[in-house]
Amino acid sequence: MYKFLPSRTSFFVVSNQIGNKVIRPATFTLIGRRFYVATPTDKEFDTIVIGGGPGGYVAAIKAAQLGLKTACIEKRGTLGGTCLNIGCIPSKALLNNSHIYHQTKHELKERGIDVSDVKLNLGAMMKAKEKAVAGLTRGVEGLFKKNKVTYVKGHGKLVGLNEIEVNGLDGNKTTLKAKNIIIATGSEPTPFKGLEVDEKQIVTSTGALSLEKVPEKMLVIGGGIIGLELGSVWHRLGADVTVVEYLGSIGAGMDGESAKSFLRLLQKQGLKFKLNTKVVDASKKNDIVYVNVESAKGGDKETLEADVVLVSIGRRPYTENLGLENVGIEVDERGRIKIDSQFHTSQPHIFCIGDVTYGAMLAHKAEEEGIAAVEYIKSGYGHVNYDAIPSVIYTHPEVAWCGKTEEVVKESKKPYRVGTFPFAANSRARTNDDSEGFVKIISDSETDQVLGVHIIGPNAGEMIGEAVLAMEYGASSEDIARTCHAHPTLSEALKEAG
Ligand code: FAD
Ligand code: NAD
Repeated sequence: MYKFLPSRTSFFVVSNQIGNKVIRPATFTLIGRRFYVATPTDKEFDTIVIGGGPGGYVAAIKAAQLGLKTACIEKRGTLGGTCLNIGCIPSKALLNNSHIYHQTKHELKERGIDVSDVKLNLGAMMKAKEKAVAGLTRGVEGLFKKNKVTYVKGHGKLVGLNEIEVNGLDGNKTTLKAKNIIIATGSEPTPFKGLEVDEKQIVTSTGALSLEKVPEKMLVIGGGIIGLELGSVWHRLGADVTVVEYLGSIGAGMDGESAKSFLRLLQKQGLKFKLNTKVVDASKKNDIVYVNVESAKGGDKETLEADVVLVSIGRRPYTENLGLENVGIEVDERGRIKIDSQFHTSQPHIFCIGDVTYGAMLAHKAEEEGIAAVEYIKSGYGHVNYDAIPSVIYTHPEVAWCGKTEEVVKESKKPYRVGTFPFAANSRARTNDDSEGFVKIISDSETDQVLGVHIIGPNAGEMIGEAVLAMEYGASSEDIARTCHAHPTLSEALKEAG
């Protein structure tokens, strides 16, 4: 397959196969009556991805699968980005195992299982987490090899419109060239002014995933997803956890009714909350952190003590030493790289995806964008449906949602209906004696199209998949209600809510 370049004197071999022979993509130039072949060197690529997180590694693999000569530059030393190394995967390993520990210690007896001498081996729990991380990051490296993506270990910096300088982890400097570039450099924790993170006592999520002992008292600044997931982990392992949240609700933007119910459930489990409260400053003395807080509106001051403080007030785009200024790529007031609806930055051949640009900071959103950006490069067409991106908080019970919250629908003045069904009336949840939470479906009252689904309950994160699929296909709540669901399953609650 050949594609003519605009000059019509050169053409580029897009397919890398002629008959059974695999060839490298190459540019053929017609000078006079002769073709001159310029095959790319090891430093020239069709596409270079900067950042090997879920956005970047998925984009790189897809690009290679579509026949583009592709490299991915990653400076961490392992692939998988925040998600696999210090995010989704290690946090879920700790959430799963801390839940098993807590359940074994506090719930098994009444389920007819007598156990004694249940003890926490934190070192072994951390090792299990590290094993999951190592297996998955190595797995991505294997996928790179299999798909012939060149893995470049080092820091990438844009030095020209088609040039990236790599400061290799081996100490060598090299410059790579690419026709198209995808920026997928992700995000980092937003610092709290005045609190110096040491990742031992004052920690971000990274330190909170590797504490050497269970803190007696843990203070969490920010009742968003990280605060609630990691606060739950350490609470289950025995810490006295207090969450300080600036707003009047937890869950950073989730449906209001779900947030209220989730707060009650977490309080019942023993987590403490100080809502409408802001942290003013903190100081350390004799291994204790003293945190001064006051009412968000001012006044009502208090000093809280903790041996570990988790700062989880959000994440910000990461573009350090990326050289954006060298190529005129613009960022917005929050540091997010500006893109159009087809992921082009201010330079049309440089694309940007994932946490470093607009939208939810979620691994699966970054992956969808990675695929779409590559499809735009290859064919000019790509697609991400931002109305059908699920969110999950992996506590117990889990919280999962997709689409609009009731507050947003109300504000749009669209007439709507709400159908809810409690897990207390679901036979499987009752049988498992795990029946807290509910399913809530919001639909357009004129067309019955599903606008949002919100679930609190066991396995909500798996169940939301059905709602996402329904929304992808523009289903009505009646469609869900008329779909046969196996009995007894938790998913029957979704049918009933429909
Ligand atoms: P990243 O994963 O941040 O990857 C970017 C990569 O680029 C990094 O490895 C970085 O080293 C590299 N890089 C940066 N600059 C350069 C450079 N100049 N040169 C070379 N390399 C560079 N999301 C979910 O969907 N589900 C979850 O359960 C979940 N849990 C999370 C738990 C925690 C504790 C945290 C912190 C995050 C969690 N997230 C979760 C969010 C998720 O990790 C991110 O949304 C996702 O990793 C974003 O992917 P990305 O590819 O955009 O960026
Ligand atoms: P977040 O945006 O989810 O929550 C931050 C919370 O901190 C908000 O509720 C905010 O009101 C509060 N806050 C901000 N400043 C404050 C202050 N000065 N004092 C008290 N509270 C303050 O951010 P996060 O929890 O740090 O997570 C970052 C991102 O990582 C999230 O956007 C999320 O997308 C992603 N993440 C996802 C998952 C998941 O999908 N399960 C898990 C972890 C992280």
